[in-house]
Amino acid sequence: MSAEPNPLDDLPGDTAGTPRGAAATGPRAEPASSESARLAFLYRAGEALGASLEWRTVLRRLAELVVPELADWCAVDVLGDDGRVERVAAAHREPGRVALVHELFRLRPVDLTMSDVIAQTLRTGVASRMEAVSERAWEREVALGARVGMVLPLVARGRVLGAMSLLRGDAAAGFTEQDLEVARELGRRASLSMENALLYEEARVSQALSARLQTVTAALSRAATAEDVARVLVHDGLEASGAARGTVMSLTDEGFIHFIGEFGYSREFRAALEGKRPLVVPVLARAAERREAQWFSRLEDLLPLTGIVRREVAVLGGGARAVLPLLTERGVRGFVWLAWEGQRDFTASERSFLEALAQQCSQALERAVLYGTLRERGERLHHALQMGKEAEERLFFLLEASRALAEHLDDVEWTLEHVARVAASSVASSCLVELVGPDGTLRCVASAHQEPSRDASVLQALGGEGALSLSRECFHSGEPRFVPDVDAALCERLSDSSEQRALLQALRPASLLVVPVRTRGRTLGVITLGTSPPQRPLAMSDVSMMEELARRVAVALENASLYRDAQAAVRLRDEFLSVASHELKTPLTSLKLQHGLIDRALGPDSREKVAPRLSTAMRQVQRLASLVDHLLDVSRVSLGRLALEPTEVDLGQAVRDAVDRMEEVFAVAGCTVRVEIPEPLQGRWDALRLDQVLVNLLTNAAKYGAGRPVQVSASAEGEARVRLSVRDEGIGISETDLPRLFGRFERAVSERHYGGLGLGLYISRQIVEAMGGSIEVESREGVGSVFTVLLPRSAG
Ligand code: ADP
Repeated sequence: MSAEPNPLDDLPGDTAGTPRGAAATGPRAEPASSESARLAFLYRAGEALGASLEWRTVLRRLAELVVPELADWCAVDVLGDDGRVERVAAAHREPGRVALVHELFRLRPVDLTMSDVIAQTLRTGVASRMEAVSERAWEREVALGARVGMVLPLVARGRVLGAMSLLRGDAAAGFTEQDLEVARELGRRASLSMENALLYEEARVSQALSARLQTVTAALSRAATAEDVARVLVHDGLEASGAARGTVMSLTDEGFIHFIGEFGYSREFRAALEGKRPLVVPVLARAAERREAQWFSRLEDLLPLTGIVRREVAVLGGGARAVLPLLTERGVRGFVWLAWEGQRDFTASERSFLEALAQQCSQALERAVLYGTLRERGERLHHALQMGKEAEERLFFLLEASRALAEHLDDVEWTLEHVARVAASSVASSCLVELVGPDGTLRCVASAHQEPSRDASVLQALGGEGALSLSRECFHSGEPRFVPDVDAALCERLSDSSEQRALLQALRPASLLVVPVRTRGRTLGVITLGTSPPQRPLAMSDVSMMEELARRVAVALENASLYRDAQAAVRLRDEFLSVASHELKTPLTSLKLQHGLIDRALGPDSREKVAPRLSTAMRQVQRLASLVDHLLDVSRVSLGRLALEPTEVDLGQAVRDAVDRMEEVFAVAGCTVRVEIPEPLQGRWDALRLDQVLVNLLTNAAKYGAGRPVQVSASAEGEARVRLSVRDEGIGISETDLPRLFGRFERAVSERHYGGLGLGLYISRQIVEAMGGSIEVESREGVGSVFTVLLPRSAG
């Protein structure tokens, strides 16, 4: 029966006991013949019984001690928590019959409800002795040959835990009082050892439970979702609790039951409860209301509280149940429902283990909710950041494209290449720009890939004429074509040859977008964008962005065309000016000549009469000639034909000559002129052009000088340059007009008061700049102006 060595064998002075094997058939020794022998036996028995902390071993030893000292055979039966009786030990003086003792129990098991002697003892805790062989209560024992017997209760923790049956086959060998006493003492000691063993086992179990609780707690701390929590709870906690079935239900924010983990339960049980309110199952309502676990040793206790799941629960059979609420500060978050196969008295440590599990589970569920919120918030933030980044990318692209389009009016095609390059390296991976040609068909003006070495392949891959051509469709309909998710079938339809298919495959477009470039109802071209992984695919925001870009491209194309027209018109006008002023100069030269001849031919009388008129006519012709010269110069500047012929010039002399020639002009204007040039200022300049600048500045000083003094000064500016200033104290120029004065046809005075074309300063600046110098003005309205020219000594 026992594989362990019998501690009795090692006991010294074993005089009272007969080795079991040897005594199997012999007459019983007289164990209690003397008081001292009895005490020695009891002492040894106490030692043997106390030597194990495993109660089954204790009881086996008890049986072995009894036989053959007190009885021919002995059986020890224990009463389980579920009310069932188990025979845990048997001994017989003939070892071969031990199996019989067990077999008899198997054939006629002890049932607490029966009236047999063992059942009685277990029920009442009172010892029984066989009074007569015919007693019904002793039927089983008599069947095995018992003629004398007694059954003693094994009592521990105030409860009858088992019964020890001592039986003899010899009717003459009845039990003496001493036998009875020894047997009782043995029973007491066995009970004591059993109690110790039970305590020890309980301690071991609760230690194991607390270790398991630690494992579960550690695992729960890593659980991030309610499902993770339930999984840990089921696998690491509930299944190990010995329960046959278990389920973890959570309550949604709206208070509905939601199964998050289970084992052993049928689908029907789940279906009956999922989505319902706990109220429909009274035991759940009670657990929630009382905020404490509900324990049911037997199914019958639970059934009245099962509500709508009565059938499902009943089908699963009898056995103990436990329903634990999952409590948090915010209230009940769910339930754990457990079922055991048999009846069960929940021990305190088992209850506290399951309650602790439920508490851990509640906390973990709370944490999971918190993680969920945090995760969701994090994801939203990430999404917002991503959206922000994408929007920023689009904006930068639009800005860069618009800047390029605005800056290079004269070369839109270059700009479009630039725009395609920027698109292919920011919002997309490839970009194709096609414009309608004179023959009305599309031609590629820009093709760019994020790897510039693959630029050409973009055109070949996307510009084909397959069964489907997105750009052609877009061009004809004037509507964008957007494919957010390009698949193999689409690539197939886009290809018109195996070569193009291969190129498309190499391009791996994930999304494609074609937008029309339209203006005033006409489609001027199309722009195609493609993305390849790992780049993000195009989205609806990209469609809006590209439509905006297309609008700007359309405006740029229109502007470029207007600009080209305007350029042509300007060129035409300059050509006309050039031809016209040349043509005008010939008759003017002839007119001047005629005036000279008339002047010389006049006699004294007639001179007196016509001289004033002739001189007016000559002045007007001079003025006309100067205007024509201006126009001619403007056309020369525009056509880039302002040629310089530098010679050695003394600036001081040049100024004095000009002032002398204009003496009459200053006199008419009522201005005095002072020239301050202390030293000769030699340089290499185009003398005629230099004179032209001087005359322009002096004419303006006289014209706008308001009859006040004019001062002309010049000096050396370092080694290499000279500075010339013309200062007047006239009407001055307003600050707002100053910046534009040197522009063509720009004027700051009314035509009514002052005649002029607004070309003098323009031409002067062109000449000065052509000489490598600069001209600027300082002026205050009503105070006067200073025009300053800086010239390098060697110009042109
Ligand atoms: P115009 O004198 O034929 O109008 P300019 O090109 O010589 O053309 O001068 C342009 C404008 O500059 C003038 O119309 C006048 O408003 C202003 N301006 C030029 N010189 C002076 C000056 N010395 N004082 C005030 N205004 C001046």
